[in-house]
Amino acid sequence: MRVLSVEEARDIVRATARPLMATEVILAEEATGRVMARTVESDIDVPPYRKALMDGYAVSAQSVHGKPELEVAGELTAGMVSPEPLAKGCAVRIMTGTPLPEGADAVIVQEVTEPIDGGRRIRVSDTSVEPMQNVLERAYVTACGEAVLEQGVLIRPHHVGLLSEVGAARIRVFKNPSVAVVPTGDELVPATDFPGSGQIRNSNGPMLKALATSAGAEAHQSPAISDDLPRLREALASALEHDVVLLSGGVSVGVRDFVPRVLEELGVDCDFHRVAFKPGKPIWFGHRDHNDRRCLVFGLPGNPVSNLVGFELFARGALEQLGHRPERLRVEHLRVKRPFHHRSARRTFHPARRVDGGVELLPWKGSADQRVLAKADALCDLRPGPYTIGAGERLAVIPLQEVL
Ligand code: AMP
Ligand code: MG
Repeated sequence: MRVLSVEEARDIVRATARPLMATEVILAEEATGRVMARTVESDIDVPPYRKALMDGYAVSAQSVHGKPELEVAGELTAGMVSPEPLAKGCAVRIMTGTPLPEGADAVIVQEVTEPIDGGRRIRVSDTSVEPMQNVLERAYVTACGEAVLEQGVLIRPHHVGLLSEVGAARIRVFKNPSVAVVPTGDELVPATDFPGSGQIRNSNGPMLKALATSAGAEAHQSPAISDDLPRLREALASALEHDVVLLSGGVSVGVRDFVPRVLEELGVDCDFHRVAFKPGKPIWFGHRDHNDRRCLVFGLPGNPVSNLVGFELFARGALEQLGHRPERLRVEHLRVKRPFHHRSARRTFHPARRVDGGVELLPWKGSADQRVLAKADALCDLRPGPYTIGAGERLAVIPLQEVL
């Protein structure tokens, strides 16, 4: 199979991933980060009544304009509705947010009035009163039945109040893609254990779960599976029930790298197996269509930084696409802060940190060195070397995911 460019491989993933159509109903207040599956329409006019925008006196503009003194016919506070229409030429004391009495179309602000006759009348210092001054007309913001939040919108915290205002306490959202994370390797022990001789801790499993979650997936992590055909068959057969499988390890040409063989035995079609970049050339991608469902399978190399880069370049976009989310991978072009010698003859995604509007390539000991990730917040896309990058040269930079 041909070695693909990163761009060719990404195009294949994009063409193979299909947005999932399953939906569910959840509480709006718990919906931040989810995607609207139906457009929400308002079930009321907003505001639902002609309301006062200021504390003051509700009047009919035409009948009081120019009058320096007015009779006060009553008092209305928020939540009250005047039982009777406004008497001609009178004013009714009114508080912000209260419906105007029938016949009133303006509010004189309290600041230009002064009570006289023990509050039975007011004196008005600014007697020019225009219709609709300090008043919000019924349905001025939204008419009943109008769409307020469209299908496909990624719900953010500030949408939740709007949904509540229009009665959408529960909303229909797209289901998050379900992801099976399957780390493989005879040498792996859980992070809770102290490794014996020849063993290392499984760090990719927990990382892939966190990454998948940050891309809007429901991630389930299996314990590490040993490089053993029957065990792999069993684990992968159940993992294929998910929308996506993220495998770590066992995809190369080692004597116990059984992952590609087992996937093909289980009916997963290989879409590519080699992509020209570092870290992580052996990267396996395929899909299986079964019972009207498509499962995407990413076999990511075991070295932790290769695992991360493979996820960011290929799997994140697929998860976003499945979940109807906007694609987050964006490329910034930043100036390099310090000169850097790029030795490798392969295109490399090199851990980096953005500082003061530029980027700094971090000292890095290769694909097994994930300690560099403590400082990194981006990957620099370096074309095949060797060459020296001078300070001030621009490089393409892919930011790593921020916390949601
Ligand atoms: P592999 O891709 O299986 O050939 O593994 C490549 C390297 O990554 C080996 O040094 C493995 O020990 C290491 N490795 C594999 N799986 C993991 C994992 N889940 N966590 C950390 N390192 C791993
Ligand atoms: Mg292995």
